Amino acid sequence: MMKLIFTCPVAGREFERGDFRLVDNRGVVVDGEGNRRLDARVRLNSPCPHCGGIHEYDADRLACPFSGGTPSPGKGRNEEGK
Ligand SMILES: [Zn+2]
Repeated sequence: MMKLIFTCPVAGREFERGDFRLVDNRGVVVDGEGNRRLDARVRLNSPCPHCGGIHEYDADRLACPFSGGTPSPGKGRNEEGK
């Protein structure tokens, strides 16, 4: 089972989880800058070890293995412009 690193928004601490599922999955979309991202949410199937809550995250914000592993070349440019 694939595991991902999540961050608890309450405790601000990371934990590793393999039991989660995709919800609101609208597939891969391309934004206005041509960046591919997954328009979906990831929901934990079991409570957070830090606060006991069931957290939900934007799939886009996780280190995303769902998108096929292609790193987006546009991300660096965005940071330079700010
Ligand atoms: Zn938590």
